[in-house]
Amino acid sequence: MAVTAPELSIFTDEHQQLRESIAAFVAREVAPHVSEWEHTTFPDSIVRRMGELGLLGLSMPEQYGGQGGDYFTNIVLAEEIARAGSGGLLMGLSVHTDMVMPPILEFGTDEQRERYLKAGIAGEEIYALGITEPDAGSDVAAIKTRAVRDESAGEWVIDGSKTYITNGHRASMIMLVTRTDLDAGYDGFTIFLVPMDAPGVIRGHKLEKMGMHASDTALLAFDGVRVPDSAILGEVGRGFQHIMWELQAERAIAAAGCLAYAQYAFDMTLEYALERKTFGRTLGTHQAIRHKFANMAMEIEAARRLIYATAADYAAGKYNVREISMAKLKATQVAWMVVDECVQIHGGAGYMSEFAIERVMRDIRLYRIGAGADEIMLDVIGKSYGL
Ligand SMILES: Cc1cc2nc3c(=O)[nH]c(=O)nc-3n(C[C@H](O)[C@H](O)[C@H](O)COP(=O)(O)OP(=O)(O)OC[C@H]3O[C@@H](n4cnc5c(N)ncnc54)[C@H](O)[C@@H]3O)c2cc1C
Repeated sequence: MAVTAPELSIFTDEHQQLRESIAAFVAREVAPHVSEWEHTTFPDSIVRRMGELGLLGLSMPEQYGGQGGDYFTNIVLAEEIARAGSGGLLMGLSVHTDMVMPPILEFGTDEQRERYLKAGIAGEEIYALGITEPDAGSDVAAIKTRAVRDESAGEWVIDGSKTYITNGHRASMIMLVTRTDLDAGYDGFTIFLVPMDAPGVIRGHKLEKMGMHASDTALLAFDGVRVPDSAILGEVGRGFQHIMWELQAERAIAAAGCLAYAQYAFDMTLEYALERKTFGRTLGTHQAIRHKFANMAMEIEAARRLIYATAADYAAGKYNVREISMAKLKATQVAWMVVDECVQIHGGAGYMSEFAIERVMRDIRLYRIGAGADEIMLDVIGKSYGL
């Protein structure tokens, strides 16, 4: 199938060339392995390979090995990786490229940028993001992981646990959200860049999950982990504000990735409906099925336009929390509707693991929960009207 950028484009000819080269890489080196990676999780070597190809720092400055591109290059990457058909890979990569590295660029010291951006962009290291805890997910402010300064040693001591951490088993470093002042409300949080081989970091067993099987998901414990002041990302006490900034990029890329994944489902289902015959005709030519496709296409297009318009504002420097929340929510709702219809159109085949649509459905379910669940997005949007 020809690779084309959708219309209403924020994309230039250069983006189109990038899209085609990523699509060729995906077809050659990623798509043939996604079924295997459902059992093994994706190998670190694919991340190294993407580093070699310059795909991990598309919008990062050249001084750190990035390509110096604009924000839309990240969207192109997410959309084309989605076409590989592995939500787990898409998620693991997005954490690395769109959730951990941008805050290091934004809030990090020169030393942190040199240390982590170069290695991350080269694909030599993979990073994780630690916000969620067993007793705090949607309510980020309820986290309990503590960092206390040991004045005599000039170090911070971290105790607590994090759960559902993507890349948690493979990561060399975790961007960890902690509480440093219990009495300071939203001004009592601090982020640390914690090496995962630091004494006291304990990686629990790999968590089994419904979908996203190509990614690894960890329960982590931090038992008296000592880090120096140089591990602080941004300002002491500003961690909550920093992570809220991070969440906007996380949600924007989740919206683009999950919608592209839904498009992948649509495309494969269209092919199926043009082949499969029932009652003497191809399935897709039954009016009821044709209408399903029309409805899916319309919803995908509406969500895509919202995502692109939102991305354009975001790239122009607007801190458009309301619109990003809308785009994320719309994308996840549409994606879920689309994969449900795609499974329905596949009939019994859609329930079989040998058909990719079964995997897509399990993978896509996560997007309504992760990176700000549907209910939380609704609340952010509602509150933005002063309610
Ligand atoms: C596969 C996977 C990978 C993940 N990767 C990471 C990662 O890398 N790093 C990380 O930090 N986290 C990660 N997460 C965690 C994810 O971000 C959280 O699961 C998510 O934020 C929801 O938190 P929770 O699971 O604690 O649900 P809860 O906060 O307990 O919420 C449960 C349900 O109640 C709803 N709800 C909660 N509060 C309200 C309210 N006030 N009003 C109405 N409804 C409400 C929620 O929307 C949700 O539907 C991952 C999760 C999964 C499943």
